[in-house]
Amino acid sequence: MQRLVDGVQRFQANVFSAKRHLFERLAEGQDPLALFITCSDSRINPNLITQTDPGELFILRNAGNIVPPYGASRGGEEGSIEYAVSVLGVEDIIVCGHSHCGAMSALLEPSKAAGYPAIRNWLDHAEATRRIIGENYKHLDGEFARQTAAVEVNVLVQLDNLRTHPAVAAALAREQINLHAWVYEIETGKVFAYDSPAGQFMAIENTGHGPRPHYHEIEM
Ligand SMILES: [Zn+2]
Repeated sequence: MQRLVDGVQRFQANVFSAKRHLFERLAEGQDPLALFITCSDSRINPNLITQTDPGELFILRNAGNIVPPYGASRGGEEGSIEYAVSVLGVEDIIVCGHSHCGAMSALLEPSKAAGYPAIRNWLDHAEATRRIIGENYKHLDGEFARQTAAVEVNVLVQLDNLRTHPAVAAALAREQINLHAWVYEIETGKVFAYDSPAGQFMAIENTGHGPRPHYHEIEM
């Protein structure tokens, strides 16, 4: 804990003073670039990987970057999504999964969540992901390949769930919002974005977009 307290003091002494004008402006209100939905995993830092400042990303996090279909959970996700879209007027929503996701691992191996009823119940919102992998990806060899596929399939499943939210559906009908499926690879720092016409995840990089080394094609 001392590490965190020291960090607060260093933030105030070094970072805040250097960006005082930014923080004073943010006190007036927020106008974020996007709604960024990702996993609670401590290894992901949305502002770091997108090189954005406070005020630029409206962030929603939970285990497995899951978006329960509208009305299914009556949880905080619905309110955050409605606020971002209808009040703040974000024009882009990113659902960002990541490599080595513990939630996806527990989804594929329910025994890992045995004894943790809250996790089991939460992962029910990703049941479509589990079924898609179980029924359509039997050819994948080994846990790593299946987990990698599950991470990718899950962000697409959660985009489908996002479309059930009335605020999102209405903005889509007005063509005022774009939905994006990303996967962040912890060990390489690479971010892959789903390319719908190509049917695969492509690396976001300034040397051009290359396909992710694949174990499979995504079949959605
Ligand atoms: Zn995760």
